[in-house]
Amino acid sequence: MSINLISDTVTKPTPAMLQAMFAAEVGDDVFNDDPTVNALQAKAADLFGKEAALFCPSGTMTNQIAIRTHCGQLDEVICDHYSHIFQYETGGYAANSGVAINLIAGTNGKITAPQIEAAIKPNYDWLPASRLVVLENTANKGGGSYYTIGEIKPIRELCKARGLILHLDGARLFNALVETGESTHDWGQEFDSISICLSKGLGAPVGSLLIGNQDFIAKARRFRKVMGGGMRQAGYLAAAGIFALENQVERLKDDNRRARVLGETLRQLNWVADVRPVQTNIVIFDLEPPLTAADLLKKLTENGVMAAAFGPATVRLVTHLDFTEEMLATVLSVLKNLDISPK
Ligand SMILES: *Cc1c(COP(=O)(O)O)cnc(C)c1O
Repeated sequence: MSINLISDTVTKPTPAMLQAMFAAEVGDDVFNDDPTVNALQAKAADLFGKEAALFCPSGTMTNQIAIRTHCGQLDEVICDHYSHIFQYETGGYAANSGVAINLIAGTNGKITAPQIEAAIKPNYDWLPASRLVVLENTANKGGGSYYTIGEIKPIRELCKARGLILHLDGARLFNALVETGESTHDWGQEFDSISICLSKGLGAPVGSLLIGNQDFIAKARRFRKVMGGGMRQAGYLAAAGIFALENQVERLKDDNRRARVLGETLRQLNWVADVRPVQTNIVIFDLEPPLTAADLLKKLTENGVMAAAFGPATVRLVTHLDFTEEMLATVLSVLKNLDISPK
């Protein structure tokens, strides 16, 4: 049996989560008539101190709907160059919304108020209109780095002053909040809309939530429908989400700690050139030449460990619900004993 560190999306529902799914009361959510979906949406809105929420099949869809709802054609989205919305959503910002994108080279996937201010375009008809700022927390390609709420406040102030909308791609927001101790409610107050994923560290099989005010979510609902995201007896999936929010948030601390241990071990190996700072459950590291990511993945696979290439000589490990303390011990021993000849 192999140990899969490719992503925190590889987890399977626990027996208790499956039990909650079996027991769900369902209806047709396209008619707003699924009590479990409605309960999940109300719970999410309440957590963040917002008016409403929308259950969607994926985090790509919640982000894409947010861009589509906040922006129109000829508008521009400002974000870090590592952002998921730019890197991993199939160019959807252009295809779905007809917007331009203005990339900032931030630090480990994070950007600052002065960087955003410098990126805002003046109001000429030969330029797209700067409309929306998207922050990502934690920053996936940034190595799981996180913002503190103190770093968000000046960005929020700038957006207010310049009439910009602020969206949070919070796919892994809870991995950050268990570290900082900050509250979802406080985070909710700083953003016009928030996307969270239930299917990453939280361990649900499917689902993301888009959270915002009533008018925004009413519009977003129509865009969800046109994108094919109107689901029927979706309460079976929503039940997993409710279970995850109630039972599988605090334990993210274990994932974060195990990732830190992996990072510390990797730092001591002579075939590792550099490990990005490990703040949550993602470990990204670069290899000493001539070792390539393909070489390392092959050796790891032979030893029952699966990881993802994140560049020609860069590898990513992600810890999650199905990665136990015993598995951590196994992976540490595999890493220390890998047959990689010294340079
Ligand atoms: C995973 C992820 C998403 C959404 O991905 P889906 O696979 O479409 O659910 C969005 N943003 C970030 C930062 C992610 O890591």
